[in-house]
Amino acid sequence: MATVSLEAVRKEYRGGVVGAKDVTLRIADGEFVSLVGPSGCGKSTTLNLIAGLEDISGGVLRIDDTVVNDLSPRERDIAMVFQSYALYPHMDVRGNLAFPLKVSGADKATIDQRVRETAELLGLEKLLARRPKELSGGQRQRVALGRALVRRPKLFLFDEPLSNLDAALRTQMRGEIKKLHERLKATFIYVTHDQAEAMTLSDRVVVMNQGEVQQVAPPRELYDAPANLFVAGFFGSPRINLVKPETLGLREEGVTLGIRPEHLEIGTGTAEGALSGRVYLVEPMGSENWVTVDVGGERLIARAPADFSVRTGETVWLRFDSKRLHRFDTASGRRR
Ligand code: ADP
Ligand code: MG
Repeated sequence: MATVSLEAVRKEYRGGVVGAKDVTLRIADGEFVSLVGPSGCGKSTTLNLIAGLEDISGGVLRIDDTVVNDLSPRERDIAMVFQSYALYPHMDVRGNLAFPLKVSGADKATIDQRVRETAELLGLEKLLARRPKELSGGQRQRVALGRALVRRPKLFLFDEPLSNLDAALRTQMRGEIKKLHERLKATFIYVTHDQAEAMTLSDRVVVMNQGEVQQVAPPRELYDAPANLFVAGFFGSPRINLVKPETLGLREEGVTLGIRPEHLEIGTGTAEGALSGRVYLVEPMGSENWVTVDVGGERLIARAPADFSVRTGETVWLRFDSKRLHRFDTASGRRR
């Protein structure tokens, strides 16, 4: 079991690119924390600093109570799972699972037992004699997970481990990783660019942009009270509507308003006290319809019921509960 703490941890690459800007973060023992943000925001950099794969340019990194700034990856007792599985092609699944234990000098009985337990945990029992090329993508990723698990490290780091899988398999493996965390009760730090993965998996989510932490919060809080415009826009599908107060018929200065698509009620025709607009686009999702409406030159998207029938160009009304509005300072982007 492990706690991880970063105090103003910084990474400057040669040439002056700042990969991580003074990242401060405390991760509790057994917690599942995701680092999420767009490509290039510093997720892998931060994870690699924790793993010891990159040198720290500044700040203090602790695992449990030990400062690990200058410890090698091996001395940190960490397991890492990457997007590319990098299994040994000439070894079967058993050999791949056993490898990390052999390297660490475990005896044969221990190796056999751990390989058996790990294979059971991941449903790989019947595949032990196969080579990586005889496995599907999902099975390979499971072996890669297994290889991280066999050593029973106190800390697991994942860098976009599901990005190479197709959508259906990704969702399935996502569930398996969550169940795995529940069983192992180890500390998991998980890097992803996928907001849905971050939300569904994590106890807390760390949102990053341009090397900086934007917000650290449980998924629900991120969604209900985003700290700034960036976080507001990052989570939610379809995206939150961010508009000028005038568009919603309000008069306020220096403020950008946010309203989530599920908090816009929509109906055909006009209604008293409601906004009026014209349908720009209708996107049937099966379970619901996403309707984009032109309101005074800005486009708002509303989630309408599946049986809501409307055509492009039709006049519709939109209503919202003002308690559902998010207010952001337009200049700084910060939540008010
Ligand atoms: P993410 O994982 O969020 O996509 P990274 O942590 O890989 O982002 O990268 C953060 C920033 O650091 C990017 O601007 C990237 O180009 C830069 N960067 C990453 N690795 C290196 C490196 N080895 N040398 C120079 N710049 C790097
Ligand atoms: Mg990355």
